[in-house]
Amino acid sequence: MAVQWRVPLADLEIGPEEMEAVASVLRSRWLSMGQVTQRFEQAFAEYVGARHAVAVSSATAALHLANLALGIGPGDEVIVPSLTFVATANAVTYTGATPVFADITSEDDLSIDPRAVEAAVTPATKAIVVMHYGGYICDMEAIARIARRHGLAVVEDAAHAPGAEAGGRKAGTFGAIGCFSFFANKNLATGEGGMLVTDDDRLAERARLLRSHGMTTLTWDRHQGHAHSYDVVAAGYNYRLDEMRAALGLVQLARLEAANERRRLLTGHYRARLAALDGLSLPYRAHPGKPAAHLFPVLLRQGIHRSRFIELMKERGIQTSIHYPPVHQFTLYRARALRQPLPVTERVGAREVTLPLYPRMTLEDVELVAGAVEAALGAAAA
Ligand SMILES: *Cc1c(COP(=O)(O)O)cnc(C)c1O
Repeated sequence: MAVQWRVPLADLEIGPEEMEAVASVLRSRWLSMGQVTQRFEQAFAEYVGARHAVAVSSATAALHLANLALGIGPGDEVIVPSLTFVATANAVTYTGATPVFADITSEDDLSIDPRAVEAAVTPATKAIVVMHYGGYICDMEAIARIARRHGLAVVEDAAHAPGAEAGGRKAGTFGAIGCFSFFANKNLATGEGGMLVTDDDRLAERARLLRSHGMTTLTWDRHQGHAHSYDVVAAGYNYRLDEMRAALGLVQLARLEAANERRRLLTGHYRARLAALDGLSLPYRAHPGKPAAHLFPVLLRQGIHRSRFIELMKERGIQTSIHYPPVHQFTLYRARALRQPLPVTERVGAREVTLPLYPRMTLEDVELVAGAVEAALGAAAA
């Protein structure tokens, strides 16, 4: 039997508006990518402040298309963090290029370290993929300076960061391409789904083409009588979103600002409650800008047994997770030589625990989790 969590790691906000939006698509009898998806793309582009938004079936698809649109392929290197979801690196591997892992900044800033990026650049380097860990935007000024100096493209894996802001700019619009995830546990959830955003007309056109088999017209255009046939100009993919998910996405997008605000409020309460505990440290103590607060990560002090801690939390009905087992330690990537050692990634990867965080959480839930953390720290100490 599945565990009945008192406080799950994440939970959704699905109301009558979501039900009605999906039902309305079903009543329309047009389910595959069409005008609802176009509306979602327009609304999303406007929201983040990008010229183009291309809806896709997942962030993994968006990352793959980003690499392809930038012309990355065999022989090329792309610098990526290792403290991320494996898709960040896999999307580079799909193209035949090599992901080169760079360390994260510190135990306070868990995103890729600009100095490590600079050290990893070779003549084969084509791009840098950053990941805004937990919805906290990376030091994009430093990344942009390095990219300019070496003529590299920047891709943002913004899967954690829809709505995050720094210097009045939203995540996904700092680099050449931004990639978002609408997977069920993300800040904006449609089950599966993603979005690629860019200001570059040519990159957008390339991504749209490759999203749908490299075909020059869409089923929707033909249904509208705008086209009778099509040509195929590239070996593209089927990475399309569908209308049910786009309809869900439109409703969730309208809720995003309020939901992120609630996440920041809960994060503040967690911090106030946990800051004084000496068994753990809290990353992002003084982060500039407005995070999307996707995750609430804590780092256990050396000497606290992590799997015991997680087990003790589970006994109290509290679900936790680990973000992330470092990608370079997985079987697929382990055999490859590292360009540079990744001591901070490995330290954080071994000590990180993610506590529950979702807009529907109550302050009592935060108190319950914090109390359990305090008790578990005592019991899991060596
Ligand atoms: C969830 C996630 C992805 C993949 O998103 P999908 O939409 O599930 O493909 C990629 N990168 C990061 C950092 C993620 O958290």
